[in-house]
Amino acid sequence: MVLDLDSPADFRAFVLSDPYRMVIDLPSFTWKAGQVQSPESAGVQATRYGNLQPGISRIVFDLNRPVSIHKAFMLPAEQGNSDRLVVDFSNVPPSLFEQVKNTVHGSLDPDKPQVQTASLNTMAPPPAPKPQTGEQKPLVIIDPGHGGIDPGATGPHGLYEKKVVLALAKELKKQLEDSGKYRVKLTREGNSFIKLSNRVKYARDHDGSLFISIHADSMDNKEVNGASVYTLSEKASDEQTAKLAARENKADLIAGIDLSVEDEDVVSILMDLTMRDTMNQSKFFANSLVESFNQNEVKTLPRTHRSAGFAVLKAPDIPSVLVEAGFMSNEKEANLLNTDAHRQKIAGALKKGIDQYFEQVRKNQRI
Ligand code: ZN
Repeated sequence: MVLDLDSPADFRAFVLSDPYRMVIDLPSFTWKAGQVQSPESAGVQATRYGNLQPGISRIVFDLNRPVSIHKAFMLPAEQGNSDRLVVDFSNVPPSLFEQVKNTVHGSLDPDKPQVQTASLNTMAPPPAPKPQTGEQKPLVIIDPGHGGIDPGATGPHGLYEKKVVLALAKELKKQLEDSGKYRVKLTREGNSFIKLSNRVKYARDHDGSLFISIHADSMDNKEVNGASVYTLSEKASDEQTAKLAARENKADLIAGIDLSVEDEDVVSILMDLTMRDTMNQSKFFANSLVESFNQNEVKTLPRTHRSAGFAVLKAPDIPSVLVEAGFMSNEKEANLLNTDAHRQKIAGALKKGIDQYFEQVRKNQRI
């Protein structure tokens, strides 16, 4: 959002909830913008302005969804443009909004000499940040890989990846729900095929706090075994991972879906600021899982956290990881993955990693 001003000015910008608002305070000004038309995509429902206190005017944007301000800065007048206040913001999930709300960008000293006060509508002072009441539990979206016409990797004796990952996903759901700390949804409950983009869409439609895609793929080298965790990146961290991502991304092809009509590619989406934020959180989450695997004696691959262009990790606003719980191409590990005991152990480690992640998120909120 860009505000044209007739002189440089101090400012402060922040977001508030209940309802969602973005607030910009400036030295008292005369509003010449008239009625503000905003595109629906910006989420701005209404714009209000008025004097907050002597010397300070306030603009409030009523929003229909949570946003985060990434940057707010003055752009000096140049080449026929007036001085501008630029506020760079984007949609964020409520979980992230809770971390960023009340963070003030910029500063505004009410005692500094100000421009002449204009007479406008008087507005109520901002409410003090409310203590969180009735806060919803985080929603963890678990995505059992493959399904239906797409069996995923095949292990010994015709054991399919799609079957073991669904069983593992259900075990993890049970453990998370039993803890009483989370809400949990699975992208598939049965043996059904779901497009990769629809798995992402499911997580976004339900406003997930976290997305975990669970797999147990195959490797050319049948000796390779151990769990590993993957996050999205433009470039694969290594050749093995690049191959793995290519295999996972083929899921839609197997079902005969034309990939050319799929949405934007990874490269373009990486440009988005929200995506960069989300990717940092995804990496942090991945490391929490790796740490938990190590603490709970789950065997892991060397360099356990890797990255590549996995299509299923493309939600721009939900921290997402893909877990390879092991490899169906390793006979011993495939047989282990087919046992309740082994799945309970892996689900237990995943749950502890999820606990660690949300503990850190809550700590950040208190700062
Ligand atoms: Zn898979």
